[in-house]
This record gives sequence, structure tokens and C-alpha cells, in this order.
Amino acid sequence: MSENKSASSELKDKLFMKRKNGFLRMSDEEIKSCDNFSENYKCFLNSAKTEREAVITSVELLEKKGFKPYSIGMELRPGAKIYRVNRGKAVIASVIGSESIEKGVRLCAAHIDSPRLDMKQNPLYEDNEMAFFKTHYYGGLKKYQWTAMPLSLHGVIVKSDGTQITVNIGENESDPVFCVTDLLPHLATEQMKRPLSQAIKGEELNIVIGSRPFRDDDASEAVKLNIISILNEKYGITEDDFISAELEAVPAFKAKDIGFDRSMVGSYGQDDRVCAYTALAAVLNCENPKHTVVTVLTDKEETGSDGNTGLCSSYLKYFIYDLAAEFGAQGYRVLSASQCLSADVNAAFDPTFPDVNEKNNCAYINKGVVVTKFTGARGKSGTSDASAEFVGRVRMLLDNKNVVWQTGELGKVDIGGGGTVAAYIANLDVDTIDVGVPVLSMHAPYEIVSKIDVYMAYRAFQVFIAD
Ligand code: MN
Ligand code: MN
Repeated sequence: MSENKSASSELKDKLFMKRKNGFLRMSDEEIKSCDNFSENYKCFLNSAKTEREAVITSVELLEKKGFKPYSIGMELRPGAKIYRVNRGKAVIASVIGSESIEKGVRLCAAHIDSPRLDMKQNPLYEDNEMAFFKTHYYGGLKKYQWTAMPLSLHGVIVKSDGTQITVNIGENESDPVFCVTDLLPHLATEQMKRPLSQAIKGEELNIVIGSRPFRDDDASEAVKLNIISILNEKYGITEDDFISAELEAVPAFKAKDIGFDRSMVGSYGQDDRVCAYTALAAVLNCENPKHTVVTVLTDKEETGSDGNTGLCSSYLKYFIYDLAAEFGAQGYRVLSASQCLSADVNAAFDPTFPDVNEKNNCAYINKGVVVTKFTGARGKSGTSDASAEFVGRVRMLLDNKNVVWQTGELGKVDIGGGGTVAAYIANLDVDTIDVGVPVLSMHAPYEIVSKIDVYMAYRAFQVFIAD
């Protein structure tokens, strides 16, 4: 009887899929590395709250590691490190490989834009002696989550003479912050009857920015006048200058450890800066790779990747074509031989909301980086669906290098869906698969990831680009 039992458990061990917690699969030393890694990750999150800031922070890190701005015709020996910035909102970093570029590149693509509140182009108004900014939300967010919490303001204002002002208010301890108001429960009887999707409407996401009127003036809109005069003094701008501004309100809080055991990181914007940072860290530490490595941190994923800084544009393709030309190769041949990890987050199983996931095919925190064969909605609409052959290759690589990983798809079949940049890169004839970190409360102002999964994403990107 007992012999039988041990035979079946032995057979189970051999034949069943293992889904053990990563914490139980890693050495103390490895756990320490992953905790240390997350310290630098939190610094990145705090200094890179928008796509523009992520580019600036990434370029600083790249330059420290010897990466140079790429210019056509520069000397590109194996091991050379270069980068190219696209309009301040996306960046491509590359390390030249020892193999011919015609053998393809190892591509990692993550995005550095996150859901947020953008200011409208004519945002400033006064209502009942309070001043506000009108906003237009960016990306898929639950609007009710963005009220009654501190917001910081980031971005640029381009004046009519072409000079550009950088704005960053609300991150320093002594800075003021901003806030969208919500109704007190005492008077919210009608609001509470609205469906959750309309609990706060788009036109109710108005940010309070001031309440004191301009002194010695009995004109109308004295509070608005006082605010614009403060802004004029500080930045030299007039109301017209908002037309050529990109101002983004994001949560003003900092990245922190979560839990008594400090096992998780909570922060705004981890979709997808968690994959951006880990992919960046991998290329920063990449020396003399076999294949040329190309890591792109892109913009506009959250609005569908359109626009000249999103991956539906040709900027990545042009970069690869430029590299190919340097070595007398055809750009399309380089792409056709290339392989890509589309580095984006997946939804982590949330025990409070178990019904949206199918438990055998979803991602769990602490079980490692998630490999997602396909994304999309309904009948896999909008997916690139990596081939079994490519999944097999990636799986073998991760196993051989002791990367803790799991498989997972986004939610139950009929429940919703989502996409990543994988399809746009695959459309360039590149073998592409989604690999990323599972996230709790994705797209919320405060998202949660596990430190083990963050570290395993870094390891996955590292072993992929070194292969
Ligand atoms: Mn994402
Ligand atoms: Mn997203």
C-alpha cells in the first residue's frame, strides 16, 4: 500500500507540471540578490514616473555604462554600446554582437507609458472661486480610483518662442500636490446608484490647483488670474502656452515594500516599468554578446501603440535597418532572423477576485516570470500567438539557466482580454513571445508585484540576450 503510494507520487513528480512558489526554489543567496535588485528598481520607479522621465533616467544609466548616442557611420565593433532616443519618449539601446548581424538580433521590448491623467490643451478654469485643471485620462483606467489622493504634475510646456520648460511638481517632500475631489458619502446617494464605470465620469476628473484670488482686483476669475500669474512668474508662460504642453498628473506617492515580509513592491506605473527596468538592467549588464542586442523602451502602448513614438510606427524598424546598413546587410533579413521577448506584465491571480481567472492557466505572484504564448480577446483576436517551436526554445533556455518561470494567460476566455506590442513586432517577421511580471491591481494608481518575479524577469531577459 505504502509502496504503491510512493510509486504514484514518484510518477506524479516526474509527469505533472510543477508550480512551486519561487521562494522555495531559490537559495538564500538568490533571495538576497532579488531583494537587492528591487532597491534599485524602486529608485527607478521614483525617478521615472512618465515616459519622458523614464527616457531621461534610462539614458543616464546607459551613459554611465558607456553607451554612446548612435550616429550613422560611427565605428561599430563587436561589444560597441549605443542608444537612440525617439522624441524624448522612447529609447533604443543596443550592444553589437560578435556574430554577423544577418544572424538576427535579440530584441526586448517594454513600454514606459502608464495610465494617467493628461491635462487638456485648454485646462485652466475657475469655478466658484476655485481653480482647476480639466483632464483627459490616458490609457485604460478605472476613473473612480483617481480621486481623493495626492497627484504630482509632470511634463513639458513649449512656449510660442520654442523654448521648452520641464515641469515636475509634487515629488519632493516640500512640494505642493494636486487632487481630484470626490463627493462625501453623506451626499452621494445618487452617485452611489451609478454603475462603477460611471461613478466618476471623465469630465469629473478635475484637478484642484488653487483657491486664493488675485488681490486688489474685483475682476471676475480672480483665482484663475492668481494661478496663471504664479505660473507666469515661475515659468514665464501665459494661458496660450498650455496648447503646446504635455502635462501629466500621476500619483504622488513613492515606491515602497509591501508586507511584513517585504516580499512585494507597491508603486504607480509598474505596468510596464517593471519590465522596462528589468530589460534595461539586462542590457546595461550585457558585455560582448554573441547576437546583437536591441532593447526598446517604447511609448504609447497604453493607447494602442499608434503615433510616432509607439511601436506601430517604423522607428524600431528604421533603427534595425540603419544597423543592418552599417554592416552591408539587408534590414528585412536581419528582422526575419531576429527573436523578441515582448516584455510586458500579465495579470496576477487575486484571491479576492478569483472568478476572472481560470486557475490552471493564469499567473501567480512569486511563481516567477510569466511566459504568455498568446494574448488577445475572444477568439484570440489581436494576438501574435507565438509558435510552439519558439515557446519550446524559450522554455528550454529558461529551464537550462534556472530561471523561475510560469505560464499564464490573461483571464478566462470570455471575460475580457488585452494585448501587448508583441503583435506589432511579430508583424515585422520576428519570432516574438510575451514574457513579463505578474501584477496585482494592474492599471490602478498603486500596483503590486513580487520581488522574486521582478528579479526573474531580469534573469529571463539577461539569459535571452546572452544566448
Ligand atoms: Mn503593459
Ligand atoms: Mn497596461
